[in-house]
Parts: sequence; structure tokens; C-alpha cells
Amino acid sequence: MAKETWISDALSGALTEQEVTLKGWVKRTRSSGKICFVTIRDSTGSIQCVAKAGNLEDEQLDALKSAIIESSIILSGTVKEDQRSGGYELAVSGVEVIGPVNPDSPFPITESAMEAADGGETEFLLDNRHLYLRTSRMTTMLKIRSSVFGAIHSYFRNLDFTEYQAPCFVAGAVEGGSTLFEVPYFGRKAYLTQSWQLYAEAAMPALERLYTIAPSFRAEKSRTRRHLTEFWHAEMEIAWGGNEDVMAHGEALVRHICKTLLEERSEELESLGRDLDLIRRYADNPFPRIRYDEAIERLQALGVDIEWGQDLDYSKEKILTQDFEVPHFLTHYPRIAKPFYHRPDPEDSKYVLCHDLLAPEGYGEIIGGGERTWSEEEILERIDEEGTPREPYEFYIDVRRYGGVPHGGFGLGVDRVVSWLAGAEHIREVIPFPRDSRRVTP
Ligand code: ATP
Ligand code: MG
Repeated sequence: MAKETWISDALSGALTEQEVTLKGWVKRTRSSGKICFVTIRDSTGSIQCVAKAGNLEDEQLDALKSAIIESSIILSGTVKEDQRSGGYELAVSGVEVIGPVNPDSPFPITESAMEAADGGETEFLLDNRHLYLRTSRMTTMLKIRSSVFGAIHSYFRNLDFTEYQAPCFVAGAVEGGSTLFEVPYFGRKAYLTQSWQLYAEAAMPALERLYTIAPSFRAEKSRTRRHLTEFWHAEMEIAWGGNEDVMAHGEALVRHICKTLLEERSEELESLGRDLDLIRRYADNPFPRIRYDEAIERLQALGVDIEWGQDLDYSKEKILTQDFEVPHFLTHYPRIAKPFYHRPDPEDSKYVLCHDLLAPEGYGEIIGGGERTWSEEEILERIDEEGTPREPYEFYIDVRRYGGVPHGGFGLGVDRVVSWLAGAEHIREVIPFPRDSRRVTP
């Protein structure tokens, strides 16, 4: 029995002239008379397989000839060095078609459909997302995405953070009411969580260093290239730490993600046309910090219509980050621009001790974080000045009555980070089944 192997191993050169069995899906096929060329792929690569009459039974050759694109197939044969291309191919001696595709309804994601989409995603490709996942572009995105998830876990675990889970059904908002998803909950109202943060703060006195990667939900009505209604949120919280400590983690994490991608996914990034020197630059250089006030001055100097006190939306971030060589932290937002849990700066309480990390190349915010309001007195003052009802936050206030300590944390949008590092045009390109205000299918 020939050795079952991944296509990447057959292409490695180590199996030349050996008998192997490959399992995969038909990517391309061409036959003329008594010879059939089939390229098959698995998750590790693709290889040309050549079947010639005489080397296998006629029935098997016919079966191979009739196997059209995306049929699943098992081929056995000998790995041969292909003199012309310098690569490797399989000289086929055995064929088994496992899941044939009906020729009356061929695989709909054709090369012309991909070309029409030009690297982006048409409604047609989104409607057929379950099939589009198999294309090399999407597979590449999913591999890069997996490495980013792995890098986040390894960053925190190497530092002895505890992974901690919060509920998805909640009673209160973290990021403001306008993006809350309401769900009927046995005669009451509940909401889908916008962030893990408030529940992480409750566990902070127990675990001190905690993190998660989980979905967050936001009813983003406007469709932008960087908002989903369900996105993957990597969040962390530390006890005995302030805004600077939290920023140091954010910076180290993003640089660790860049380094991991360079180690694990250089080939994939290059296949997407990504310049690895840019990723190296992000991995190797410190991220500067600028205060909100300075950012407003810069924007005003560029003729942008913005006033002190306003939050920066995407259009402003885009202008600001266009000339950035590396990600920049924006710190010290006005108190009036940020929710109640942000701690006012003891040096000037007009500001809060917070930060956003803005990615370069016009991508904008990838992290939002800061120091938390941690005394009972201060949190009540902040909640009341904001006009937020206290009731849904009773547990949150209560935590501060029993041994409150300075603490802080951040949330990083994983899909946004993947989108930036992969050089995607739109955040939808990097998540298997994107959700936005118009789409919950497939
Ligand atoms: P924005 O102003 O861009 O909507 P935000 O200020 O609402 O972002 P935070 O509440 O600070 O974002 O959330 C932390 C991080 O989560 C953000 O920096 C971003 O990376 C990510 N994020 C927030 N909302 C979304 C979304 N709708 N889709 C994808 N990622 C998101
Ligand atoms: Mg938002």
C-alpha cells in the first residue's frame, strides 16, 4: 500500500520516485486522447498528476477524465521530478473518485467570477461563501487568520495570563446604546455583549492578568470596510497597571503578531502581494505616542473640519494614518468623548487615561484601551455625569467596594488586524462568514 501523504510533502523532493497516495480535490483538468492531466489540491498545496493509458486500468482513466473541478479524489502513483518545470508531479497508477460533481451543475466559483471580483467580493461570491472558502485567496486569508489567533494566545500564555470567559447575554452596554443588539429574553430584554471588559474587571481581583478571544456584537448600521456586526475581539485586563502598562502590552502583542506572521506565513503574505518589509518594519520598531490634542491640531492644519472634543471617526483616522510609518498610539482623549469606565487623568481631569492604537496605511484603529475608573466614588460620579442608569451596572460598581485597585486593559479587533496585515481592501475578506447590517447568510 502506497504511503498516504500531504501534497506539500510530495512537492518537497523527499519522496521522489516513491509510491504515494494523495487525497484531494480537482483544481484543473485537461485530457487529450489517452492522457489526462489533473491538478489536485489539498490544504497544503497543489500538484499536477499525469495519467497515461497503459499505466492504469481503462476504467480508472475514464473515471479520472470525467472528474470535473472540485470532485474529491484519491490518486496513487509515483512522485516524479518534472524536468521542465523543476517541480514534481505524480505519475498516476490508481484513481478513486470519492465525491463526484454533477456536470450539469459545475462548481460556480469560476476564474471569471473571481476576475470580475478583482480581489474584492461581489454579492455573488458572498452568496456562495460556503464554496468561495476553497479558493486559494480565501484559504490563504484563513491560514493567516489562524496564525494571528495563535500568536495572540501564545503572547498572553507566555506571560502567564489566564484565559477567561464572560457571558454573551448581558444587561448593560459597554460601548454605548446605539450599537446594542437587543434580544428577547423570556419576557425581558437582554443584549448581545459588545465587550468582555466589564465582566473581566470583576475577575481582575481573582486572576490579576486575564485575556480572551471571543466574538463581540455591535449593531453597526453603516457598512464600512472595517466594521462587522459580529467580530472577534481579543481583550486583556491587568491588575496594578495603568495606561502606560496596558499600552506596552498592546505594542508588544502587535509586534509579536507581526513576527509570528513573518515566521509562519511569509509565503502566504507574498502570494497576496504583501510587502514583507512593511511587516518587518512594524515588527521591529517602537510605536510612537501622540496625545489627542496634537492629533486634532495636525488634522486642523490639514484643513480637516474637526473640533476639540469630537471622537475621531474613520475618515479622520484615515487622513491621520496615511503618513504613519508604523502604528501610533493616540492618548488622552477628552473625558466628554469617552464612556464612564475610562479613568479621568489625575493631572487634568478634562482628559481620560486612554489610548487607541492606529494602524498605518490608512487602516486606523485596531486597539482601544486604557486605565479604568476604580474607586466607588469616582465611578458613581462618572456614571451619573453621563446620565447612564446605575442599575445594570450594580455588579460593576460593587466590585469597587471590595478592595479596588488601579487596573486597565484593551480590546483588539482581530479581524481588523488580519485585514491590515494581509493588506485586504475590506474586513469581510478575512472572516469566513461575514456578518453586517445586510447579511446573515449563508
Ligand atoms: P470604531 O470607532 O472604529 O467603531 P470603537 O471605538 O467602537 O471602534 P472599541 O470599542 O474601542 O472600538 O473596540 C475595541 C476594538 O475592537 C477596536 O479597536 C476595533 O479593533 C475592534 N472593533 C470595534 N468595533 C468593531 C466592529 N464593528 N467590527 C470589527 N472590529 C471592531
Ligand atoms: Mg465602534
